Amino acid sequence: MHRRSLKPFALSPLALSPLASSPLASSLLAFSLLATSSCDRVLHSPDPAPGVPLALAEHRARVISDLRYAVTFDIPAAKDSSVTGEVTARFALSDASEPLVLDFRAPADHVLDVQLNGAPVAYRVVPDHIVIPAAALSRGEQAVSLKFRSSDAALNRNDEFLYALFVPDRASTAFPVFEQPDLKARFTVTLRIPAAWKAVSNGRLSSRDSSDAARHVVGFAESEPISTYLMAFAAGVFQEERAVRNGRAFTMYHRETDAAKVRRNVPAIFDLHAAALAWLEDYTGIPYPFGKFDFVAVPAFQFGGMEHPGAIWYRADALFLDETASRNQELGRASLIAHETAHMWFGDLVTMRWFNDVWMKEVFANFMAAKIVGPSFPDIDLRLRFFQAHHPTAYGIDRTLGANPIRQPLENLREAGSLYGGIIYQKAPIVMQQLETLVGEPTFRQGLQAYLARFQFANATWPDLIDILDALSDDDLAAWSRVWVEEPGRPTMAARVQDSALVLTQRDTWPRRALRWPQLTTVALGVGDSVVLVRAQLRGDSARARLPDGAATPTFVLGGVDGVSYGRFVLDSGSRAALLSRVHGLRDATQRAVAWQTLYEEMLDGALAPAALLDAALVGIREDSNEFVNTQVLGLARGIYWRFLSAADRRARAPEMERVLWEALERAAAPGRKGTYFGALVSVTLTEESTRRLERIWRKEETPRGLPLSEQQYTNLAEALAIRTVPNTAAILDEQEARITNPDRKARFRFIRPALSADHAERARLFETFKAVENRRRESWVLDAVGLMNHPLRADEALPELRASLALVAEIQRTGDIFFPLRWMNAVLDGHQSVAAAEEVARAIEYLPRDLPRLRGKMLQAGDGLFRAARVVHQWDRQVP
Ligand SMILES: [Zn+2]
Repeated sequence: MHRRSLKPFALSPLALSPLASSPLASSLLAFSLLATSSCDRVLHSPDPAPGVPLALAEHRARVISDLRYAVTFDIPAAKDSSVTGEVTARFALSDASEPLVLDFRAPADHVLDVQLNGAPVAYRVVPDHIVIPAAALSRGEQAVSLKFRSSDAALNRNDEFLYALFVPDRASTAFPVFEQPDLKARFTVTLRIPAAWKAVSNGRLSSRDSSDAARHVVGFAESEPISTYLMAFAAGVFQEERAVRNGRAFTMYHRETDAAKVRRNVPAIFDLHAAALAWLEDYTGIPYPFGKFDFVAVPAFQFGGMEHPGAIWYRADALFLDETASRNQELGRASLIAHETAHMWFGDLVTMRWFNDVWMKEVFANFMAAKIVGPSFPDIDLRLRFFQAHHPTAYGIDRTLGANPIRQPLENLREAGSLYGGIIYQKAPIVMQQLETLVGEPTFRQGLQAYLARFQFANATWPDLIDILDALSDDDLAAWSRVWVEEPGRPTMAARVQDSALVLTQRDTWPRRALRWPQLTTVALGVGDSVVLVRAQLRGDSARARLPDGAATPTFVLGGVDGVSYGRFVLDSGSRAALLSRVHGLRDATQRAVAWQTLYEEMLDGALAPAALLDAALVGIREDSNEFVNTQVLGLARGIYWRFLSAADRRARAPEMERVLWEALERAAAPGRKGTYFGALVSVTLTEESTRRLERIWRKEETPRGLPLSEQQYTNLAEALAIRTVPNTAAILDEQEARITNPDRKARFRFIRPALSADHAERARLFETFKAVENRRRESWVLDAVGLMNHPLRADEALPELRASLALVAEIQRTGDIFFPLRWMNAVLDGHQSVAAAEEVARAIEYLPRDLPRLRGKMLQAGDGLFRAARVVHQWDRQVP
């Protein structure tokens, strides 16, 4: 599974606002400590608790083996008619002294029939489970057959298609199953579908019975042993693209109506898959383990992708790129495809025993993807990309009081969704890179090969891998792991020159803890016009490194310029001032990227005025010729503009911001670059003059030279004009709706349209509908609408809905997909900067139920940006003459 990437520099500074001294701040602190420690223990009771408690999973893993499912789903064309089905689970039972518990997260009346070994059997339906009493059981081969009606929670039903998405614990919302990653099973799937529909699942398509002209029965061959969260099927009106690469056949299913777009992208999509497969077979020494290889491009998919063996789901617009796609988007696509393909080995072949180690499959998928795409993008600075793709997002969480460790305890599978986030996706690959550096690439590879070979088609834990690597390395990797993997947060470091030596120190800002993070780091010293690099190995409180001649009085000292080392490098005032003016002159792009991130952290901590950093960023946009650094600075400028300037300051600076972006657009050569600047211009426009220009562009009375706009870019334009309540907004939106050709994109536009209304009451009415789960099913559409309702230009009007938006989060966690709770909070909060809004968040955190420590952590993470913005704007506003 690949998280849709957050823009670098997503806003999330420290939680110190004007509220800092209030009792609320101390309780915030208390809560964050809670976030990492409170786990409820599952006590054995007659009926297992809802969800899948760890104790139940451990018991089942002990007594059930050789598991196979034959499951049939009857899927009607009408999305409001129920899906029904039947399943037979065959397995060996080694102990019949306890009741047999299957998981089924649907109302009791969805259980239609239960048979054991071909005969009716007594059973009880309790929340989330079907229980067959021990009295009915015997040791040996068992076959449990059930007829059921599915809930739609994980079936993503649309008018013309549906797709199952069961990660992490949602197979049991569709059919009765033993829902845990370490009870792997072979699945034989059969689907009854409308005759016009196509279908795909993990196993090879083995039969299609069309004797009934209206409804066909499609059969799939038995799969390899896989975990329940990896079982998948999709059916609907899809187009099909086939290809053969290196002797392997591939099939892609999609719903893209733009034929030119399909023609332009399909060959590259197949090439990238074939290249990733070949690389992984070579690196692991294990051939692709799952037979056929199909994938589906799903419109508005919740994630970037999901790694079901034989049936990968992708977000369609991540595969089908626009003509003006930037190099960054091409790299993003290649990384996504490499990520999902790497999962075939890391996650699918060898799976975590329990979801507390879900991070392992994600870190290796990201880690391998970074290695795989390199050769395909020789023109790209991978060190730079690694830093930009990981550190800003990881810091965005690790600097907050809601930070979580990479490896988190998990007592019940139903909370598995809350484990996911930037620490797993962005921090863990950094830590893994450090581990590879520590033990050496050959040893690391050797260890992974041994790990995959030993646990193939089975399950493993992180300590299992550390044991294998520890046996191959001299370092104490278990101790290393305790600091980097089992603890949240990051070191705070400072570097200074003393007696012709560089002294690097570290400390722990986390309350009542004194960790020391072992790591190798590189520090840059500004010496005259050049930069001197010094490497230092930190283990304890400090490290000293000899300075080369002539470097005793540097103009600046900047830590972490290797793009891998991790922590908050605090600048002294001299270095801060020097870097603000000299960052553009640093020849190494990674050094510039690290410098911008470090300056941003200084601003977040109140040590640097937002306006001063914005001024420097505008110079960077004008001068930095590196596409990736330029994009980073662009993101930084947009973030400061909307969140860290007061409204008055923003209005004053808008003309210059617009002028710099328009000039950059005109100067850029590649349509992709022009598109990036145009997107930024559309987002920041405030002046009358620029708003009128955008309207002329939307009316096609003017076109930016060398930038043909796509349907999506015109839609973004129309939305931006509506937010700015230009005259005739309704007419503009009507026409934009008519312009949209793709049925899925048109449906999205109709859905979000009330959020664009100038009438707050109409927006509030749409928000009210989101209180019902059935109106939140199209999560990415809901997020777009909520983001528009809380746009910075409408943030004050949205305040009345803020409390209700936050009060919904606990229910959203129970009902929505993995990333939805945090994305919902970000969509609600990212447009706000006021003290009033910050107080609403602090209040919501106070009132969150105590048994949701991880959700509390997420709210602390999502609120961090707002807390800092409220403080920083307040702090510097008082200083503006
Ligand atoms: Zn993944």
